[in-house]
Amino acid sequence: MNRLDRFSAPSTASDSPRGLTLLRDPLLNKGTAFTEQERAALGLSGLLPPCISTMQSQAARIMTNLRSLPSDLEKYVALNALHDRNEALFFRVVCDNIDEIQPIIYTPTVGLACQKYGLIFQRPRGMFISAKDRGQIADLLKNWPYKAKLIVVTDGERILGLGDLGANGMGIPVGKLSLYSACAGVHPELCLPIMLDVGTNNEEFLNDPYYIGLRQKRLTGEAYDAFIDEFMTAARATFPGVLIQFEDFANHSAFRMLDRYRHDACVFNDDIQGTAAVALAGLFSALRVNGGKLNEQRLLFLGAGEAATGIADLVVSAMVAEGASEAEALKRTWLVDSRGLVVGGRAGLSGHKLRYAHDHAQVSDFLTAIKTLKPTAIIGVAAVGGAFTPEVLRTMAEFNERPIVFALSNPTSKAECSAEEAYRHTEGRALFACGSPYDPVALNGKTFVPRQGNNSYIFPGVGLGAIASGTKLVTDEMFMAAAHTLADCVGKDDLDQGSLYPALPRIREVSTKIAAAVAQVVYQRGLADGAAPNDLASFVQSHMYDPHY
Ligand code: NAD
Repeated sequence: MNRLDRFSAPSTASDSPRGLTLLRDPLLNKGTAFTEQERAALGLSGLLPPCISTMQSQAARIMTNLRSLPSDLEKYVALNALHDRNEALFFRVVCDNIDEIQPIIYTPTVGLACQKYGLIFQRPRGMFISAKDRGQIADLLKNWPYKAKLIVVTDGERILGLGDLGANGMGIPVGKLSLYSACAGVHPELCLPIMLDVGTNNEEFLNDPYYIGLRQKRLTGEAYDAFIDEFMTAARATFPGVLIQFEDFANHSAFRMLDRYRHDACVFNDDIQGTAAVALAGLFSALRVNGGKLNEQRLLFLGAGEAATGIADLVVSAMVAEGASEAEALKRTWLVDSRGLVVGGRAGLSGHKLRYAHDHAQVSDFLTAIKTLKPTAIIGVAAVGGAFTPEVLRTMAEFNERPIVFALSNPTSKAECSAEEAYRHTEGRALFACGSPYDPVALNGKTFVPRQGNNSYIFPGVGLGAIASGTKLVTDEMFMAAAHTLADCVGKDDLDQGSLYPALPRIREVSTKIAAAVAQVVYQRGLADGAAPNDLASFVQSHMYDPHY
């Protein structure tokens, strides 16, 4: 039997759930796949139809049903219900159909699901810790019945490019943790999604009768910081060694929290560091096609938040690793934010932008910045849908034989341009990656297969490597190793069809390699107790969950 409680006391035959209780336990339920003998032994006779299915036939039935549903949101709800009913079957279906299902359980559909979370809410998953729980967070965490090794936590203030969705943002930690299990085999029982509900400033939700969160404005300032501190202390005490991933915090909190905790706790911020690694891997792939060197590129970002400065920082480190001085590398990296080009002397620049505030005249719009700076690559992470206009794309193609165009914003409505626009307006010369899924594009007799520069290529493998090795910290060097490993997984066939990333169905193989590369850094830097295993790939594989009955 697939009892997942490896970390709690072993159950005895007499206390094992039976009958209807068993069928209603998603960790144990196999539905119509219970055998004759199991049905007789477990009090299930008469409670199931006589047909005995295999997991494969159940999965096929789920997919047939799913494909018949009229909208992605309905598919999201149906998959959630499956997750609540039969966890192993849910993960089997996700693993075997990752290309089709990732866009439903994660971006872009999860964005819509979060907007409607109150309406579609059925069973809770993970933990909701609210501002009302101040002073007792440690007690609350004791209600979680498993020994969590991986927490994904958000306060819902910047959900994808959709802004403050308050407690409805819980869809993001839930979706991310599903991807950890599906894409890298992190055991679901080790995973704990957490919503820190500090209120919301979203008036629409505050007035929405179906909103699931606290109906109050967000905590700010010292009250907010004290709440986060209490949570961090309680989480680390309740689950010793736990890896905590910060997710979709607004950038005024995200950078501060990462700086505050990263030096002594096992934490990372996927929006900053995971995004950086996936984008850097895409750049490595693009350079294999156009024959350029990283430290000869000129990068212009649209956006100057978590994703942009996270990517920029890792690119600068990679340029330095390839021989550039830090000053040279910084000079090749430019940001445009909502007020125009980030330049020295501009009043009120936040700390994370200062490295990139070069000595240059003010430029107020992106197109003029392109014409002035002549970048080799533009990277869109501002959540401004359609910002890569036909003129932007044509201009990039004027002075670059193979312009690098990454439209990474999510969800699809926020994408800077579609794949079709990127190829059409550059005569098929763009080296393109996107944040949202796009179908292949046929142009001038060639078919381009755009692939998502989605951090789901990175965080599952990084998390697996961190958990398997038991690292005490997560470092930028691990994300650099992850970027190189991901880029090494891209084959010539991929590049020939315009794909800068490997095919998603290879994700478990890719994650295993990334996890091994991360674990190697962990042991080299002495960040875990104990000696490094001889064969890191087999070592991380031995920690992977494979859903079956
Ligand atoms: P953020 O809030 O930290 O940053 C957004 C930035 O965009 C800010 O610097 C803001 O000044 C800037 N901006 C806003 N309006 C602008 C405008 N009109 N012109 C220029 N700049 C403008 O958010 P973030 O975490 O950096 O995420 C940004 C986007 O990137 C989101 O859509 C997010 O979903 C997406 N993202 C995608 C991936 C991926 O894997 N593809 C990963 C991380 C983030």
